[in-house]
Amino acid sequence: MFKINENYLKLPGSYLFSDIAKKVKAFGEANPDKKVIRLGIGDVTLPLAPAVISALHKATDEMAVKDTFKGYSPDLGYEFLRSLIAEHDYKSRGVDIALDEIFVSDGAKSDSANIQEIFGADNKIAVCDPVYPVYVDSNVMAGRTGIYSSETGKWSEVIYMPCTADTNFAPEFPTKEPDMIYLCFPNNPTGSTINKAKLQEWVDYANKIGAVIIYDAAYEAYISEEDVPHTIYECEGAKTCAIELRSFSKNAGFTGTRLGFTVIPKDLKAGEVSLNSLWARRHGTKFNGAPYVIQAAGAAVYTEEGKKQTREQIAYYMNNARVIKEGLESSGYTVSGGVNAPYIWLKTPDKMTSWQYFDYLLKEANVVGTPGSGFGPSGEGYFRLTAFGTYENTVEAIERIKKL
Ligand code: PLP
Repeated sequence: MFKINENYLKLPGSYLFSDIAKKVKAFGEANPDKKVIRLGIGDVTLPLAPAVISALHKATDEMAVKDTFKGYSPDLGYEFLRSLIAEHDYKSRGVDIALDEIFVSDGAKSDSANIQEIFGADNKIAVCDPVYPVYVDSNVMAGRTGIYSSETGKWSEVIYMPCTADTNFAPEFPTKEPDMIYLCFPNNPTGSTINKAKLQEWVDYANKIGAVIIYDAAYEAYISEEDVPHTIYECEGAKTCAIELRSFSKNAGFTGTRLGFTVIPKDLKAGEVSLNSLWARRHGTKFNGAPYVIQAAGAAVYTEEGKKQTREQIAYYMNNARVIKEGLESSGYTVSGGVNAPYIWLKTPDKMTSWQYFDYLLKEANVVGTPGSGFGPSGEGYFRLTAFGTYENTVEAIERIKKL
């Protein structure tokens, strides 16, 4: 008789967004006359930029012609795309990343979930709390997290780094020593960032204790402030301790198109073994490449037009973020995020729990957001709104919230 991976059974309950969807569906059925505005999900809404669409069309046409047809892509991704990444994402920021340190993928969700595979089963992970749930759940599946307590919402073997108003929504060095540290800046869900000096402290800490930092920079394109680092490799010594994950989802609207990449410097080693070679082996064995047309579309993001058009999209979302942040602040809410990230993190009023506020907002303002507690125990008492809606809906949602 076959056996299952019992770790999957440890995963608690249903997924946050399906709980939200159920509540919203029930509300919609009971109140068909109400217009519900969704500021809950982290998905983009603007269509792909014209430069991207035109590259998609061109690449699709190439696939229809024998001489230009493409089959499997090279293991690491097409060189034309990796060269652009090395040049525009790194060299332009004073960082040298070699082409064979870049692994093109179908997005940061898979990379952030899969990266733990190249590490030992007894490594201790440290995560921010609240956290993008994939980091924890993928380690649960791998059996690295111990036992879940529904009372505390915590795993016995996970090191939680609370990110609350008390810590300025940044993690502090944990008292227990971790082996793998997941950091995400700009942060989902809190929208917070840390400056370069602070990130340098994390790099120094990781190098000192021999930990690896898995740095998720999926929201890098939203950084607006000067002293916020765009890549962890801006910090000295990061190449010996950090893996960086990037995505085309939020900088260029590729959530449904799927493209991302992971950087693993060759200097990042466990003894004599380079993590780059382990990931190359893993990537080559388990992944057959992002589609050619998608990589060609990704390359268009780096053209002058592509950059200009995607910058305009980000500006559109960040204007929504401003509307949300300023609107809520003017109504007396305590709000953070929304400056270097498309997420606004608000303190729920009147000591409501995150889910109480969710229900209240849905019922009284017909606005959907995401309960902070869904991202971890320290998210309790907070609530996430996203800037990815339309401008008109965002304005209307905030007007409704202000009237409450
Ligand atoms: N990392 C973070 C922090 C995210 O918030 C998301 C998506 O919401 C992802 C990764 C997933 O990105 P992708 O669409 O590239 O899989």
